[in-house]
Amino acid sequence: MTTQRNDGLLYLDMYPGLRKWINQCVTCQRLGYRLELADEHVAAHNLRSCFAELALNDQGLCDQCAAAFEARTQTGDA
Ligand SMILES: [Zn+2]
Repeated sequence: MTTQRNDGLLYLDMYPGLRKWINQCVTCQRLGYRLELADEHVAAHNLRSCFAELALNDQGLCDQCAAAFEARTQTGDA
């Protein structure tokens, strides 16, 4: 697996303050912008062009990882 290194990360390196608008899944390390990112924010357009929308649940898991986690717990595979 290669480390994700794209324009978005370079952008965050330049403007570390924007990291608060970025979510990262604790399991798959996927990055995306928070749903709360306001259209009026000066960087909203750039963040949206560099990242996909990424919602995390209260455990810090993205939709895919949350679904996988749930599937695992439901089959009782401990
Ligand atoms: Zn994930």
